Amino acid sequence: MHFDLITIFPEFFAGPLDHGIVRRAREAGIAQIHIQDLREFTKDKHRTVDDRPFGGGEGMVLKVEPLFEAVEKLLGHGIGNAAEPAVPEPDTAVVLMSAAGRMFTQETAKRYAQLDRIILICGRYEGVDERVAEHLATEEISVGDYVLSGGEMPAAVIIDAVTRLLPGALGNEASTQNESFQGYTTIGASPVAARAQEVLLDYPHYTRPAEYRGWKVPDILIGGNHAEVAKWRRQQAFEKTRRNRPDLLGKP
Ligand code: SAH
Repeated sequence: MHFDLITIFPEFFAGPLDHGIVRRAREAGIAQIHIQDLREFTKDKHRTVDDRPFGGGEGMVLKVEPLFEAVEKLLGHGIGNAAEPAVPEPDTAVVLMSAAGRMFTQETAKRYAQLDRIILICGRYEGVDERVAEHLATEEISVGDYVLSGGEMPAAVIIDAVTRLLPGALGNEASTQNESFQGYTTIGASPVAARAQEVLLDYPHYTRPAEYRGWKVPDILIGGNHAEVAKWRRQQAFEKTRRNRPDLLGKP
């Protein structure tokens, strides 16, 4: 998987992408990450990437030309123009980070993990000239219902979520199977048996010591009965989902 990040703060990514699973995936060649400084695509001496908004109002807007040229350079071909727009490549996503975008979820991460390449455009200031969302990006994506000051952290979030789904990225392949949002098949007399496939949050995890300040690990986990443990975990996952995220169960 090849990721390109387009940003005015290339140094921002020294750190977030250099640890743990993402670092190992990069070292193993499973994920390649290229950081593209947007200012390389400016032509004036001040290397201007932003300008005042048409129509007035606060703040500055990231200009359209450097972003189009940066993406064209990365793709190695032109995007075209209003009269003759180029057809997007099916295995490449050009993703604009945007608080006004569609929500990024585990489903999005799974879909991205099937692609060959993702180009992530990090906005700043008041945002990005809308022609980028309309004619350059293949998707406009938000990482949550809150406003951040730039698209760099959201882009790092997406790279992390997608990379850990790439084959070979996790040491233990099984570990993405029963995670939060993965959805798991329920069996037996669990409270969710009525539905074949549930999207649930993760079940609670415990490790030693078995008792800490009087708080004990649930007995069932210590008993060694695997079937009982599996049933308990499903129930707990369901309980936690009901408590913290009833919306995942279709409840308001
Ligand atoms: N005026 C915009 C916010 C701009 S914040 C609005 O009200 O929607 C500046 C940049 O930060 C955005 O262009 C975007 O790239 C990034 N950003 C902020 N919040 C984000 C979020 N929740 N998800 C993804 N990107 C976000």
